[in-house]
Amino acid sequence: MEARPVKRRGLVLVNTGNGKGKTTAALGLMLRAWGHNMKVVMLQFIKRSAADYGEHRAARKIGLEIVSRGAGFMRGKDEEQHRELALEQWALAREKINSGDYDLVVLDELAYPLKYGWLSAEDVLEVLKNRPPEVHVVITGRGIPAEIIDFADTVSEINEVKHAFKNGIKAQRGIEF
Ligand code: ATP
Ligand code: MG
Repeated sequence: MEARPVKRRGLVLVNTGNGKGKTTAALGLMLRAWGHNMKVVMLQFIKRSAADYGEHRAARKIGLEIVSRGAGFMRGKDEEQHRELALEQWALAREKINSGDYDLVVLDELAYPLKYGWLSAEDVLEVLKNRPPEVHVVITGRGIPAEIIDFADTVSEINEVKHAFKNGIKAQRGIEF
């Protein structure tokens, strides 16, 4: 007799904390799901659309979908542009989550638009609560609001024990970008 397939329940996962590894852990999860032929996408907030880190290169090579849209990490003079790009990316995130076409949607660096008040925790919760029930959503970033942490199913806080940067070691290719 065949085992009954386990019914999938979409999870909300949060990778937060001050230590290194939030985004890269989300990439690892994407790879794991993709290995099961699940449809996956990473939407990056803040990072510029021209971002060409190792993960963007890898994604192009193997056909993974990563979409970056932002004005970079410096919150410079043109705050309005930062906000607009973040809201555009949020609109795309809602569309992807609600389409039901994806098994796993990663919202990378969603913490920034929340911190700057471009997006509210209620906006995010509204989408998470009303999404198709099988869609897994992963959120990364420092300082995710408590309401989202409360709603999430799995929350990992990566604690910084040490970071090379603090010893004056510059960002290393393949490790930081
Ligand atoms: P990664 O992308 O390496 O998984 P992350 O997503 O946990 O890191 P972010 O807050 O998104 O970290 O910051 C991205 C960049 O900042 C990365 O280059 C990362 O190595 C670096 N970084 C992360 N944590 C620290 C830290 N505690 N001190 C200094 N630099 C850090
Ligand atoms: Mg990150």
